[in-house]
Amino acid sequence: MMATTAAGSGAGICACGAARTVAVLAGDGIGPEVTAQAVRVLQLAAGLAGVRLTLSPGLIGGQAIDACGEPLPAATLDLCLGADACLLGAVGGPAWDGLAPARRPEAGLLALRKGMGLYANIRPVACHPALAASSPLRPDLVAGADLVVYRELGGGIYYGQPRFTETLPDGGGERAVDTMVYTTPEIERLARLGFAAARSRRGRLTSVDKANVLDCSRLWRRTVQQVAAEYPDVHVDHAYVDSCAMAIVAAPRGFDVLVTGNMFGDILSDLAACIAGSLGMLPSASLGERGGLYEPVHGSAPGIAGQDRANPLGAILSAAMLLDLSLGLHQAAQAVRGAVSRALEDGYRTADISSGRAGERLVGTAEMGEAVAERIPAAWNEMGRNQR
Ligand code: NAD
Repeated sequence: MMATTAAGSGAGICACGAARTVAVLAGDGIGPEVTAQAVRVLQLAAGLAGVRLTLSPGLIGGQAIDACGEPLPAATLDLCLGADACLLGAVGGPAWDGLAPARRPEAGLLALRKGMGLYANIRPVACHPALAASSPLRPDLVAGADLVVYRELGGGIYYGQPRFTETLPDGGGERAVDTMVYTTPEIERLARLGFAAARSRRGRLTSVDKANVLDCSRLWRRTVQQVAAEYPDVHVDHAYVDSCAMAIVAAPRGFDVLVTGNMFGDILSDLAACIAGSLGMLPSASLGERGGLYEPVHGSAPGIAGQDRANPLGAILSAAMLLDLSLGLHQAAQAVRGAVSRALEDGYRTADISSGRAGERLVGTAEMGEAVAERIPAAWNEMGRNQR
């Protein structure tokens, strides 16, 4: 598999003129609906860059459990390890909620991240000017907010051992144990990506922990402080996760790059979705030593699955990150982002980002995908002109 370089800095591998393979794992619930639109846009933008994409579908999550009894078949992991990049929809749903933890759809996603050696989950969050009124937060608070969460993905409490649930004797109920574990190298490599990103953005980094309570967090803070010495040009501060959550809501413009552990990053980036207007707007990239996995931040949203109501923009913007970070097709990536902006400026809204104002056009998943796709050639030409 091709190495992905300089995660988060936008630098990648030039793939001009080549054929590339993308594994497509649509998953469950709204996963297939939003992934179909992301694939449409991905193919179009890559085609403009002269790159032929081979799309290889694979099973994951509930659909894999139904087809072959396990949430991550070996064939899917092999497919992803052999591809230039992977595009994923979402996994999970009520049909599989009763399964043992290791058999659930979400276990398939965790195993995929582990199997691909992914350790950094990059989640950009910005308030598009056209969507300031769609945020549950006050427009004057979110206008201009633009941050990125670097979430550690390969460790922490989602993977730590031991983890188990046991029945206590004498009717004492049950006892459940999860373990949070971090090592210095795990924190260092994530922190370095965050610092590099801060350097290429506005030069501010906030490290988020719970160092007043947790040993893992005390190690996290000490390690980030040590790494900070390598980046004297980056302004660093440290925040406790609880007060950071409040600050993200109260003053989101105060943040540039956040680096944090697996669980805190999971929670804070969903919270930060308020800034973008909806969870359906947020893309993500998961990177490691090689390859990349690109997926919207949201889950399978079973309540709206199969109804053409899901917002595909998080998935489409994930495809833009794939073009940038795994294929090195920067103009194509910019054309996708530009086309998303144009569609929003032209009033296209799925239900989750609709404010009900005049000038908005309420559309379904497929029509939003089409609106973006139609605007890609013009956005591509504009990017080309800007680069000349
Ligand atoms: P969710 O993200 O699926 O949904 C949360 C809320 O956001 C719901 O109201 C949903 O309707 C809405 N929403 C989400 N995506 C949307 C979109 N694209 N457009 C419009 N509205 C959207 O989270 P949940 O309800 O906590 O979990 C549902 C299932 O998804 C569970 O099985 C959970 O384990 C799984 N999940 C999977 C992932 C993943 O695959 N990466 C992430 C989170 C949750």
